[in-house]
Amino acid sequence: MTLISTRTLIDDAARAGTAVGAFNVVQLETAEAFVHAATSTRLPLILQISENCVRFHGGLEPLARAVIRLAVDAQAPLAVHLDHAEDETMALSAIDLGFSSVMYDGSTAEFAENVAATRRVVAHAHASGASVEAELGRIGGKDGAHAPGVRTDPDEAVLFVDETGVDYLAVAVGSSHAMSHRDARLDLELIRTLAGMVPTPLVLHGSSGVPDDEIVRAIRAGIRKVNVSTHLNGVYTAAIRRWLGEHEKDVDPRRYVRPARDAVAVETARLQCIFAALPDAVPAG
Ligand SMILES: [Zn+2]
Repeated sequence: MTLISTRTLIDDAARAGTAVGAFNVVQLETAEAFVHAATSTRLPLILQISENCVRFHGGLEPLARAVIRLAVDAQAPLAVHLDHAEDETMALSAIDLGFSSVMYDGSTAEFAENVAATRRVVAHAHASGASVEAELGRIGGKDGAHAPGVRTDPDEAVLFVDETGVDYLAVAVGSSHAMSHRDARLDLELIRTLAGMVPTPLVLHGSSGVPDDEIVRAIRAGIRKVNVSTHLNGVYTAAIRRWLGEHEKDVDPRRYVRPARDAVAVETARLQCIFAALPDAVPAG
């Protein structure tokens, strides 16, 4: 197949009242797990590489090219997205490399500065057929506007989307990044308000800390892209820890990375089904 545009995947989800899962690649094996999941479910999936991940690998291009190639070769509806780029140059480079979309995170800047930088990224992306996710007001890093208590202001969100021309908006509605417990409650009323006022699809960050049923309620309220990173890192690492505990003499990384990759693929497929199928068992919020 070929890469599907993020725009198409998210617009389809919006029409169906569902959401697309966006899962963070850490290394090639996690990308392989996501591709395996999407190939088995046949559901859309966004592979995303964060700026932090790029810094870990010491550069964007090697991992990006490998992930794009995996996605292009797969028999599944996949897009490749750059997550949380605070570096404008990196966002532009990702577009040039063929990413389906980028998230430009100018949230640490003042509103006017964030608008100006986001507009530059949007202009470059749209000229290349790519799309842009952005956020406003201190959502960056591990705390910022995704910290508990911080909320997106609907009027400011409408103004920001209008002035920047972004395609998707990351909103602060009660989740926070890097949570290892899945017990967060979201501000569902705010999601409904934002979905009614903001003309772009809404993105939920920090979903690792949100239980399945609450994510389903958020999707019903209007979330169209759900980012998951920490939760799957936990699944991956737990599988390795278990394997090494039982096989103390093994030294071949393939022996313990394989069960970790398999575990991530299974959990990713499960999440994809939840995001797409909206099981009736979940009570309305
Ligand atoms: Zn995020």
